[in-house]
Amino acid sequence: MKIVTWNINGIRTFKNGIKTTLDSFDADIICVQETKVTRDLLDEKTAVVDGYNSYFSFSRGRSGYSGVATYCKDSATPFLAEEGLTGLLANQGEAVGCYGDQVELSSEELLALDNEGRAVITQHHFIGTDGPQKLTVINVYCPRADPDKPERKQYKLQFYRLLQCRAETMLSSGSHVIVLGDVNTSHPPIDHCDPDDADNCEDNPGRKWLNHFLFGTAEKNTKDELKEISQKSASGGKFVDSFRHFHPKRSNAFTCWSTLTGARQTNYGTRIDYIFADRCLVKSAFICVDIMPEVEGSDHCPVWAQLSCTLQASPKFPPLCTRHMPEFTGRQQKLSRFFVKVSEKDRVFKDSEESLPGSQDTGGILENLNPVVQENSVAKKRPTCREKDTNAHKAKRSKQMKTESNAKGSLLAFFKPKQTPLIPSSGNLSLKPTESSQDSPDSESDTRSCPGNVQTETSLSMITEMETENQDEVEGESTSIDKSKDCKKGPCTGFWKAVLHGPPQPPLCETHNETCVLRTEKAGPNLGRQFFVCARPQGHPSNSQARCNFFAWVDKGK
Ligand code: ZN
Repeated sequence: MKIVTWNINGIRTFKNGIKTTLDSFDADIICVQETKVTRDLLDEKTAVVDGYNSYFSFSRGRSGYSGVATYCKDSATPFLAEEGLTGLLANQGEAVGCYGDQVELSSEELLALDNEGRAVITQHHFIGTDGPQKLTVINVYCPRADPDKPERKQYKLQFYRLLQCRAETMLSSGSHVIVLGDVNTSHPPIDHCDPDDADNCEDNPGRKWLNHFLFGTAEKNTKDELKEISQKSASGGKFVDSFRHFHPKRSNAFTCWSTLTGARQTNYGTRIDYIFADRCLVKSAFICVDIMPEVEGSDHCPVWAQLSCTLQASPKFPPLCTRHMPEFTGRQQKLSRFFVKVSEKDRVFKDSEESLPGSQDTGGILENLNPVVQENSVAKKRPTCREKDTNAHKAKRSKQMKTESNAKGSLLAFFKPKQTPLIPSSGNLSLKPTESSQDSPDSESDTRSCPGNVQTETSLSMITEMETENQDEVEGESTSIDKSKDCKKGPCTGFWKAVLHGPPQPPLCETHNETCVLRTEKAGPNLGRQFFVCARPQGHPSNSQARCNFFAWVDKGK
C-alpha cells in the first residue's frame, strides 16, 4: 500500500489533468490539502475521477480558503469516511467514531475547529499478520498561526489537541492510525532552514505539542510540561514521524518553500508536511518514506510512504464520497435542480432552531436536490435514502446560519463563471470554477505557486515571472490600501496615482548590483509601506548566490 500527502496550494495545481497527476503517484491513497475549493465551486472532473473515490472537507466560511481531500483508488475504497475531527459534521451512519474526551473545548470552539475544512478521516481494512486490521487515515491541514493574530495561535493549539485526542482514541479502539498532511510546524531543528528563526525556537507551542504527540520526544519539554504530560497519562508519545524513522540524519529535506522569496531554488525551506503513524504500524508495515522535492506546481512538495499491507476495498462507497453528491450523480438532473431553489426550501425549512455556522455547501445544493434524491430512494432504495434524511437535517440545521454567504449560494455561483471574461471561447461549456477561486487571495500564506509549467522554464525566467506576480500582488494590495485611506477624496486615488506617476524606480542592490524588487509590508506597524529588497531568492546567509541584505523604504513623498 502506498500513501501520499501533498499540500497542493489550490486545486488548479491539477490543471494538467487530475487523473494524470493522481496516477503519476501510483498510490492507493492520496491526501491533498489547501484545495481552496468550496462545495459550490467543486467541479465534476475534480470530484469524480475515474478509478478513484474521493472525500472532501470544505471551508464553510471563506471561499478560496483551506480545504482537504482524500482520493482513494477504487481498490482501496474505505469502509467509512468522515468530515472533520469533532464528529459534529458527520451524518448519522457514516461516522468513524472514537471522538474521545472533548470536554476541554466548548461546542462553539469545536464547531469553529471543523468549520475551515481541515480534516477528512477514512477508515480502511487490511489483513495483517494477526488477522483483519483497521487502518484510520486522518488527512489534516493544520492551521498556521499568523503572528499578528493571537487568537489564531489559540486556534492552532486547540486544533492540535483535538487532533491528538481523536488520533489517540482511534488508536486505543484498536485501529492503526496514520495522521498525515500539512502540520504547519517543523519539529526538530534539522527540519528548518533557519533553526534560529524566532518562530522556530524550542518555546514554539507547536513544537511543544509535537514533543507530546510523537514518541520519544517528550523529554525535550521542560520538567513542568513533562509532569503535565504524565498527569494526563495516556497522552504523548504514541506516534512516529515516519520520515525521520527512516532518515534520522538527513538534512535539507524540506517540503515547503516560500514562493514570495523564491527560496525553493536555494532549497531554503522547512519540513512541515508529515506522515505520522502509530509506532506499531511503522515497525510492522512501513517499508520506506520519502519526500518528492522534484514535483512542482505548489509551494509544498509531496511526501509518500510505502507499506507492506494490502488494503481491501469496501464493496460500496461511504456516503461522504463525492460520487454520492447529488450534483454529480447525473447530468440530466442538473438543470432542473437549479430551478427548484428558493421557494421550495424556504417553505420546508422555515423553522430551524439548531445552529451550525454558515455553510455555502449545505445551503442551496443539497436542498435543491431533495426532489431528485427522493425519486432515487423510492425507486432503488439506495443508501441515498439515509443520505437524503441526513442531508435534509443538515441543511435544516445550517439554514439559520446562512447569512451573507448565502448571497453567493449555488445558483449565483453556478452562473458566475459564465460572466468571467477569463473563460476561453473554445466552445467548451464546462465551467471552470477553479479559475474564479484564483481571484481570492490566499491570506493564510501570502504565497502563490508559480504559474504554468515551471519545469519547462529556465530558473531565471522563473524568478522573473515570480517576481512579476509578486509585484502584481504588491501593487494590487497597495492600491486597495490607498483606496481605503483616500476614500473620502474619491475612488481609486491610489490607483490613479500609480498610473500617472508609475511605480517608483527600483534601486540596485549593493552586493549583486542588480535591480531590486518592490514589496509591501503585510503586517506590523509599517503595514502597507513599500520597500525594495534584493531580487534574488532567499537562501542561507553564507550562500552568495542568494538574496543579499539590501533594504530600502520607498519614500512616502513619491
Ligand atoms: Zn543582491
